[in-house]
Amino acid sequence: MNQYRNSKQRENILSYIKSVKTHPTANVIYDVMKLDFPNLSMGTVYRNLQILSDQGEITKLDFGSTFDHYDGYTKEHSHFVCTSCQKVYDIQVDFPKREQVQKTTVHQIKGSLIRYYGLCQDCMKKMKGEN
Ligand SMILES: [Zn+2]
Ligand SMILES: [Zn+2]
Repeated sequence: MNQYRNSKQRENILSYIKSVKTHPTANVIYDVMKLDFPNLSMGTVYRNLQILSDQGEITKLDFGSTFDHYDGYTKEHSHFVCTSCQKVYDIQVDFPKREQVQKTTVHQIKGSLIRYYGLCQDCMKKMKGEN
């Protein structure tokens, strides 16, 4: 029974993360899940997020000083982070394939992390509006 409820919660968390492009934080996920599971605890959310990222269903994006964001789009891609509102956007550009880069080094490459930052479109609009 308990087991069932837990996996149901995990299913909902996963489908929520996969359904949005916003790279939600655990707090946002918790608030959304609360609507369906009023007794849900933050610890359960974290535990499920950990399981899902261990399974490779989602990617945990570590942004150092700010909260971790979770990404349902697990193909290799890059991110743009707004330094004003902290929103995270996907960026699609072609990078050299991992195998190509692997040929250039004796080290074992497991992934890559390319991150862009600056002002997002929304924040630029807001700034223009203030002038
Ligand atoms: Zn912004
Ligand atoms: Zn992403």
